[in-house]
Amino acid sequence: MFFINNPFNSAFLSQHQYITDAAAGVIVNKSAQSGVLWGTKSLTDRLNFIKSLVNALTNKQHLLAKQCTLEMGKPISQSLAEVQKCKILCEYYLKNANNFLSGQKITTDGSESYTIYEPLGVVLGVMPWNFPYWQVFRFAIPTIIAGNTVVVKHASNVAGCAVMIEELFAEAGFPDGIYKNLLIEGKQVKAIIEHPDVKAVSLTGSEKAGASVASIAAGQIKKAVLELGGSNALILCEDADLDAVLPIAVNARFQNAGQSCIAAKRFFVHSSLFESFIEKFTKAVSELKAGDPMDEDTYVGPLARTDLAKDVEEQVNKSVAMGAKVILGGKRTDAFYEPTILTGVTTNMPVFNEEVFGPAVPVMAFNTFEEAVELSNKTEFGLGVSVFTKDIEGLKKKLHLFEEGAVFINAMVKSDPALPFGGVKRSGYGRELAENGIKEFVNVKTVYVG
Ligand code: NAP
Repeated sequence: MFFINNPFNSAFLSQHQYITDAAAGVIVNKSAQSGVLWGTKSLTDRLNFIKSLVNALTNKQHLLAKQCTLEMGKPISQSLAEVQKCKILCEYYLKNANNFLSGQKITTDGSESYTIYEPLGVVLGVMPWNFPYWQVFRFAIPTIIAGNTVVVKHASNVAGCAVMIEELFAEAGFPDGIYKNLLIEGKQVKAIIEHPDVKAVSLTGSEKAGASVASIAAGQIKKAVLELGGSNALILCEDADLDAVLPIAVNARFQNAGQSCIAAKRFFVHSSLFESFIEKFTKAVSELKAGDPMDEDTYVGPLARTDLAKDVEEQVNKSVAMGAKVILGGKRTDAFYEPTILTGVTTNMPVFNEEVFGPAVPVMAFNTFEEAVELSNKTEFGLGVSVFTKDIEGLKKKLHLFEEGAVFINAMVKSDPALPFGGVKRSGYGRELAENGIKEFVNVKTVYVG
């Protein structure tokens, strides 16, 4: 039995019991049986169900947003934006899936050669709490459209959101078994991956969980996609327009109380702009409205759990003990951690060399572009980097220097249904979203006629 409490005021929300391995096995069997028909339906039929899902999502958007805010503390306006982004994702695939999944004709020495894309079967999703709807949708929607069925082990602290997602599929009229929720704990995931009907797994979460899931999948010769942590840099070159960057920089670090894999977690500012950036950035961050996440105008809410706020506190405190200086914030009250800015940071400090999954950011100065690249790459992660400069063409010639899944120029790193999303290094492998995402869980079948 486990309990979910509101991270803002500790109020009890709900209690849950993990299901047994046997019960989880029954759900996987059901998913596999449903998949037989689902995989042979026409793409048009499958897309019609997605259209109904969009309606169900739209009708319930405020309830969904409220559940997210209650369970993980995301400010309500950001929760609603997340739900609406799920709708945009569905609409993107409604428009493009046909094109993505139509096979390719290939010229060979045969009389005819081509590829077709067939579903794999049941795909397991292991999902995190930080964007409890978006993460699930970006995995499940393209996977289901491609003809697979999915079973999802969601993060325990958003068990209510998980149930609501499953209900949406039922309300949209999907046959039972196309999307199934598995209320299991981490250690039960092994048996699900090893279930003969489960053909592949996609995990979004920590390195530790990713390494465990991927090694179990590898033992079964099953495919895994891993979307893990990040420690993105945000680089302000000498010619950057500081005033234009400011609101983007604030959003890039403090949206969702900093609990985003692609948040800008380390700022590198050219030394000529450093003083003025610190002054303006500190002012802007100190003006952010913190408080009750149910208030429409709250921008910074609590972290999703008190233990997560304690982790950030420890990373900051250890860095301060090593010589970092707190310019703003630095204090915790229960699950709330103040938006925090640090200077005097060195590369051996936790706020630099660990992923800080909360509202704290080190700001460091650099003198040459090469130095900024070196700092940016000096992490085990490689999700993305954000570079601000007027010399866009010059920067485009240097993209190869960044060890990243994405380079965003004059913009914060963001996920967009049309853009492939994923990392290199210890940020994982595989891609979600776009055409790449819908092709992660298909059998590319080659047909050759002699
Ligand atoms: P987490 O502890 O790894 O949890 C993610 C999911 O994995 C949850 O459903 C969790 O279940 C489950 N899990 C935990 N240990 C497991 C294990 N040994 N075997 C199987 N499943 C296991 O990660 P988190 O703290 O919730 O999320 C934060 C991390 O996710 C950060 O590193 C962040 O950067 C990363 N993230 C990455 C992306 C991306 O797209 N690259 C997006 C969002 C988040 P329980 O909740 O029941 O423990």
